[in-house]
Amino acid sequence: MSDVYLNFINGQWKQGSTGQWDDNRNPAKPSDLIGKATRSTPIDIDRAIDAAQKAQGEWARMPRPKRGAILAKAATLLKGKLETFAKTITREEGKNLAEARGEVQKAINCLEFTAGESRRPTGQVIPSEVPGTMIYTTRAPLGVVAVITPWNFPVCIPVWKIAAALVEGNAVVFKPASNTPASATLLVRLFEEAGVPAGVLNLVYGSGSQFGQVITNDARVRGISFTGSNEVGAELNQAAAKTLVRVQLELGGKNALIVCADADLDAAVDATVMGAFGSTGQRCTATSRVIVEKPVAHEFTQKLLTKVRTLRVGDGFMEGSPMGPVVDEKSLASLIEAIEAAKKEGATLLCGGERVGAPGPDTGYFLAPTVFGNVTSQMKLAQEELFGPVLAILESNSFEESLALTNQVRFGLTSSLYTRDIARALAYADQIETGMLHINSPTVGGEAQAPFGGMKQTGLGRREMGAAGPEFFSELKTVYLEATTGPKNVGNLY
Ligand code: NAP
Ligand code: MG
Repeated sequence: MSDVYLNFINGQWKQGSTGQWDDNRNPAKPSDLIGKATRSTPIDIDRAIDAAQKAQGEWARMPRPKRGAILAKAATLLKGKLETFAKTITREEGKNLAEARGEVQKAINCLEFTAGESRRPTGQVIPSEVPGTMIYTTRAPLGVVAVITPWNFPVCIPVWKIAAALVEGNAVVFKPASNTPASATLLVRLFEEAGVPAGVLNLVYGSGSQFGQVITNDARVRGISFTGSNEVGAELNQAAAKTLVRVQLELGGKNALIVCADADLDAAVDATVMGAFGSTGQRCTATSRVIVEKPVAHEFTQKLLTKVRTLRVGDGFMEGSPMGPVVDEKSLASLIEAIEAAKKEGATLLCGGERVGAPGPDTGYFLAPTVFGNVTSQMKLAQEELFGPVLAILESNSFEESLALTNQVRFGLTSSLYTRDIARALAYADQIETGMLHINSPTVGGEAQAPFGGMKQTGLGRREMGAAGPEFFSELKTVYLEATTGPKNVGNLY
């Protein structure tokens, strides 16, 4: 039996006003219809914004540690539901169960961290030039904020945005990716059970472009936090500029792992395989380029191919954590097209490059882990994000060239360096144009208590997660407090 996913507006689960539904299918077995999500109209989105606006004031007046306690409760509840959430992620998104469990654990960590933040100082006391005056800062919520999320981390990304928005006293209108509606329903139910009041968190299903259009034309929406593609991010930013609405964008990546000649090659190979093929390469932090110094390029490539050939591809529920399918048919087709284009550009296909299994209703969207050699920096393969299990190997003549190649892309999310040389490690940390960087560890991963985000065309606005996470969702207020009344010498006021 398949499920139905309804909008959640003002504490009520409701069908959207189109009366239409969108199928949610299992990418490992498309004949498996998991459920149907209601499709919304602008009227439904308007109702969600209205509910958020009406509920926000009281939510903001609730003491901050009490809001934090609701997030702590959500963390506790999620621990008990970890397996249900993980199975839902695997079934609708495709990543294997071990990876899905890891995602849910990260969401728990984010909730716990943000709950703790609710008890920490929110401002500073600043000395004044004026006798008897105290200056301090405090934070005010933006009001109603929209949260738009991608399908590749259908639990964790919504959690880190929603938790940060809620702790700051905002009310949220949440639009999840159409590919992963079941995770969104589970998550909103979790917050409901944890005690988030009606109207404070609203969920609307349906078309992303319609949602974008409505929220950027509605003055009640004071912030938009978006994770997804560059195309949509740029469009949202442009539309939001008209009303000077605050926008936070986390977009694409083309992350490189650098292998120096002095590196521990086995460790670098393991990290590359994990970074490139973990979660089927569908992570914004995935390793999609490996830049290896020529003296070790042959040995590294051979070791890498040996390891890649041992990877198994299959349904994420299977024993042994195989690499799951890509998310849908469209993604599979565009990856195969990019692979064909890469061959035409002159890159050498070293392994993979093909769909696994004959197409049919019971065959998932499986792509063999794919590695290209002889890749040069000008090739599209080395420049554009593919968002799948495809890795490009570039060779370099020196450490300096490796750094230059890493920076020669429009993105700047994450990168890694494998070396035993501390001077190189420090030079890399200094010169690399990525928001996160790893020395002797894979490009992927990010801990709840550390800021997350990218440079250049990967990101715009404040960082997510960690103590920096809630900043986007609040305004800083500066308070001048005069302890005395009556005549006084106010000194120089500028
Ligand atoms: P996407 O197509 O941009 O979709 C992301 C979200 O935006 C979905 O909820 C989508 O709804 C919605 N949307 C689509 N068009 C919209 C519009 N015109 N206005 C407002 N919202 C709109 O991206 P995706 O394919 O789901 O995700 C993959 C991308 O996300 C990759 O580029 C990846 O690098 C990036 N990503 C970045 C990070 C990071 O932190 N930097 C993390 C994860 C993923 P529908 O699903 O209904 O279309
Ligand atoms: Mg699906």
